[in-house]
Amino acid sequence: MTRTVWFIAEHEEGTLHSGAGELAAAARGLEAEAVAVVCGADGQAVANQAALVADRVILIEDPTLAGCSADAWGQAIVQAASQQSPAAILLPHSPLGRELAPLLAVRLESGMISDCIELEWADGLVGTRSVYRRKLVARERVTGDAPAVATCQRGAFTAGAPGVVGTVQRLEVEIDAARIRTRRISLEHAEPGEQDITEADVIVAGGRGFGDKENFALVGELASALGGAAAASRPVVDQGWVPHDRQVGSSGVTVRPKLYFALGISGAIQHIVGRRESDIIVAVNKDPQAPIFEYAHYGIVDDVLKVVPALIAAVTS
Ligand code: FAD
Repeated sequence: MTRTVWFIAEHEEGTLHSGAGELAAAARGLEAEAVAVVCGADGQAVANQAALVADRVILIEDPTLAGCSADAWGQAIVQAASQQSPAAILLPHSPLGRELAPLLAVRLESGMISDCIELEWADGLVGTRSVYRRKLVARERVTGDAPAVATCQRGAFTAGAPGVVGTVQRLEVEIDAARIRTRRISLEHAEPGEQDITEADVIVAGGRGFGDKENFALVGELASALGGAAAASRPVVDQGWVPHDRQVGSSGVTVRPKLYFALGISGAIQHIVGRRESDIIVAVNKDPQAPIFEYAHYGIVDDVLKVVPALIAAVTS
């Protein structure tokens, strides 16, 4: 291995974010030692989880690191990076990652690339990302000697199987509490159907086949009944039936659920590329020639307005 690449391990309520394995894979793809950085008030349990996916874990504990304040985490990570000079620092393209990455880049006097779908090392960190409303794909390089910073799109990198068991090293830093200007004041669980679709094991995605917004509510009902997340094709989002963060596809997000329902969705390639490696795909479409059936493991040729209420009744009875 020629370099060390850090990735910032997000966690909530003592549980490592499931995207950590993807960031470890992204780091290893750079022919690097993949080092997880765990910040928290009480981070040992999370560090132990991170050790299953990282070659090494740096644990920074301080009461001010509770919650996910970019101000607090930024102070800790900048001090650690100044001491150990990793080649790059990778973050999830999550709300925390989007706040933390520019802060790190500015304080480390480095460059950053956001929302990467591919990474390589070629005279520096080179990131690939979609730009101009995802109509074009750009490759960008961070130059200079400071640690390059990048955020990675969820689902774009394939996590390896856990079980590495890296070492955990504690690092002492000094946090100036007076410089923490943003603090979390509450944290509540979302309703099942409102979960982040990039995180969900079960996704119920609906398309234009539902006809209107009222009918589309069935998608959310089935998602809630299954403890999963509701998602949509682009026309559904364009018509304002659901917000853009529900859109799966080349101009939406990439998802990797274990179970994916494609209901009233034709199966256009721009939709299909968004659901990489779903274990099981179930399609319901009234057109037996719909392309979605080429990808589905199970298919029902029928009206979604008949099938979906029957599925909801079967799951909830
Ligand atoms: P349609 O193609 O209209 O298909 C509706 C399907 O529902 C049909 O197969 C029909 O047989 C079936 N149906 C109708 N009524 C019923 C019923 N009552 N019961 C059962 N089945 C029924 N699309 C995305 O999804 N995500 C993207 O990110 C995305 N990005 C794009 C980016 C670009 C640059 C471009 C050009 C296009 C993009 N698209 C994207 C659009 C994509 O090409 C398709 O137009 C879109 O996916 C089609 O959505 P749909 O399947 O819901 O609708």
